Amino acid sequence: MAKFFEYQGKEHFRKAGIPVPEGVVVNTPQEAREAAAKLARPVVLKAQVWAGGRGKSGAVQFADTPEEAGQAAAGILGMEVKGLEVKQVLVEEKLDIVQEFYAGVVINSAQEVRGPVLMFSPEGGVDIESVPREKIAMKNVDIIKGLMPYDTLNMAVSMGVRGKILRQVADAVFKLYQLFRQLDCRTLEINPLVLTRDNRVIAADCRMAVDDQALFRHPELGVKIGREFLKEPTEFDLIGWSFEESDFRGTSYVAEMAPPEEVKKGGYIGFHGIGGGAAMLGMDAVNRVDLKVADFADTSGNPTASKVYRVVKLIMAQPGIEGYLLAGFMMANQEQWHHAHGIVKAMREELPKRPGFPVVILLCGNKEKESQEILKEGLAGLNARIELYDREHVYDSNVIGGRLRALVDEYRKEIGAV
Ligand code: GDP
Ligand code: MN
Repeated sequence: MAKFFEYQGKEHFRKAGIPVPEGVVVNTPQEAREAAAKLARPVVLKAQVWAGGRGKSGAVQFADTPEEAGQAAAGILGMEVKGLEVKQVLVEEKLDIVQEFYAGVVINSAQEVRGPVLMFSPEGGVDIESVPREKIAMKNVDIIKGLMPYDTLNMAVSMGVRGKILRQVADAVFKLYQLFRQLDCRTLEINPLVLTRDNRVIAADCRMAVDDQALFRHPELGVKIGREFLKEPTEFDLIGWSFEESDFRGTSYVAEMAPPEEVKKGGYIGFHGIGGGAAMLGMDAVNRVDLKVADFADTSGNPTASKVYRVVKLIMAQPGIEGYLLAGFMMANQEQWHHAHGIVKAMREELPKRPGFPVVILLCGNKEKESQEILKEGLAGLNARIELYDREHVYDSNVIGGRLRALVDEYRKEIGAV
């Protein structure tokens, strides 16, 4: 899921006609001071991170003067919320809140539903999970029929909303669903949707996440990597993503784990797993022999040889790595000869650049015999320390790790690293 910050989501709310507080996102205490001066009234300052529960962790603060706003921003910037560093703060007019509602749409992927569920509750501002079931109006929306304005009116009425604000509340919830569909969201939440003392209904918060598979329809969202990615992508990450973006056959997940300057200091290998569990066993094996992974890569779900080739090329392009491990710690049912072909082609191009380079390959599963043949034949005659392993060693992570370590030690001696 591609996650967005509150201030980005609120920009979409504003365009969709859902009222939001007046405000601006800032990067420094000085900018926060100026923003508060410009708003010329008490403000609320909110950490922009992909995490909820900011209220409780001190990441939402109030300020009456620009001076106080600057101080509050200084406290919030650089703070960690649920392990995420705060780099930006949203400065907004402070709302005089009379009541907090909850409104949200999520995808329920359970077999019986498989579609959007719209929720509304008069008890917002807290975790919706902690609100009693009878205080939440829920509606599974038929994706073809869509939603009618009376649907959200009925939901609000069923939860006791009355009077002048009824139409405003129902309207905000209705527009929320339309926006959810328009942006192909997985989650779009307003918690809280507030009623102010001067009878305005305003979205005071926003949580928004868009379906990765739909990102190609939304270049306007400017998402660089269409999958869970909790840091600013590096050049390596972006190249890795370009394989996935241009070819959805199988998956290739590639991410940089250590900055190149660090890798050049030694002790790092290029890491390539097949499948999540196998990759975890592989990472363990590497850690246990005191080596580190420069990257994380996983090619699974029956990727093509060309996809595997591109991933291996990228792994091998990392300056300073002292070995390559294919951690196929599983009896995969994908046809492994695609891996064998991709690896052979990439290694034939890359190994001549690194004489004596350690390459440990564990590949098992469907078409294993043929795959091993392809590897043996294709990698023959290369000036490198190549070892091939098959199902005999499918879970022998200590053996594989030990061999990798031994070859890396020899190689380090040879290149004068020790
Ligand atoms: P979260 O805790 O990360 O979900 O952050 P929220 O944006 O939802 O803020 C947490 C709580 O702070 C809200 O539930 C409100 O009670 C309060 N809050 C946020 N904005 C304002 C505001 O403008 N005025 C007032 N009085 N309270 C606010
Ligand atoms: Mn909230």
